[in-house]
Amino acid sequence: MPHDLAVHSSAAAGVSAGAAAVPRVDFLGLDCDELGAHMTSWGQPAYRGRQVFRWLYQGRADGFGAMTNLPKSLRAELATRAEIVMPRLVTRAASQRDSTVKYLFQFADGERAETVLMHDGDRATLCVSSQVGCNQGCTFCATAQMGLARNLTSGEMVGQLLEVEREIGAGRVSNIVFMGMGEPLANYKHLLRALDVLTSPDGVGAPARRITVSTSGLVPAIDRYARDGVKTGLALSLNATTDDVRDRLIPSNARYKIRGVLDACHAWAEATGGRLTVEYVLLRGVNDSLEDGRRLARLLDPIPCKVNLIPFNPIPGATFARPEAARVAAFQKVLYDARCVATVRKTKGSDVAAACGQLQADYSSADRAASP
Ligand code: SF4
Repeated sequence: MPHDLAVHSSAAAGVSAGAAAVPRVDFLGLDCDELGAHMTSWGQPAYRGRQVFRWLYQGRADGFGAMTNLPKSLRAELATRAEIVMPRLVTRAASQRDSTVKYLFQFADGERAETVLMHDGDRATLCVSSQVGCNQGCTFCATAQMGLARNLTSGEMVGQLLEVEREIGAGRVSNIVFMGMGEPLANYKHLLRALDVLTSPDGVGAPARRITVSTSGLVPAIDRYARDGVKTGLALSLNATTDDVRDRLIPSNARYKIRGVLDACHAWAEATGGRLTVEYVLLRGVNDSLEDGRRLARLLDPIPCKVNLIPFNPIPGATFARPEAARVAAFQKVLYDARCVATVRKTKGSDVAAACGQLQADYSSADRAASP
């Protein structure tokens, strides 16, 4: 199957002046079958696709010259027909308080998205963006203020990992979470292709259980995720215990009410054996009452899951506030008393604005005009 977003407008090397420019195929993010299909269409055996696939994700090759088990003539031909387009690092901000690092990447068309690397003991978790901006409109989220520019391709998603690991060492990221900019399940086709590349033994080889995809609760896409048998972790951004409050926080709740979203997640977990996490951003005076805690425990009672409580990380212009630490602890205790497993997420990188979407929002407003 040809990769519909993989062709860039750059002319093939070696094309003489005046000849029609032949677009080169971007190989980054293509799965093994797609690479094999390109190879056969160019008169090569399909197994060459698997060789290139291994070079891209295991060998971390950034050019065809490095692919030394391909014939020299094929390497030269590939350089005229294909390319490997990596995201370009624009800025990198390291936290002074913890080891969080925030990266801003630019893609071939100039669009930008952020990636965050967080360390916790031996664990290095990479938070990957799936879209440039987001159109889900969650009212507590900085990314929502940008709107949606476009979906990221599978190559642009996988490229965030490859570029970060170029800096810290291949295989150093232990966990991958699709919790950066964007609603991953609204970019379903490219997300699944990226997951295929990430989990394939010939690709990055990341265990599916070390990958988590976060959603604001798009029920048809969750149902599809179940039907497709995707066994990554799934994190539901719930954030409310009544539909009235969730309607105010997450506009898609107008279509997909709390009970229906939870039932869809439960069905996915049963169908795949995957691990469900319920994310709950605590907003002072909005969703952090002890009655909310009791309602949350009742809502989740039939569903095997873990709750991740996230005290709100303030964003510029936000109308929400972070609850006091004592309120967070009391909320957690209500869940604990109801035998509901709940952890409180440590605030990582708040000095580098590592809440959702902030670096990009800052960059857009302050620096973009000065950038080449
Ligand atoms: S919280 Fe997630 S889904 Fe909602 S607007 Fe922000 S990025 Fe989009």
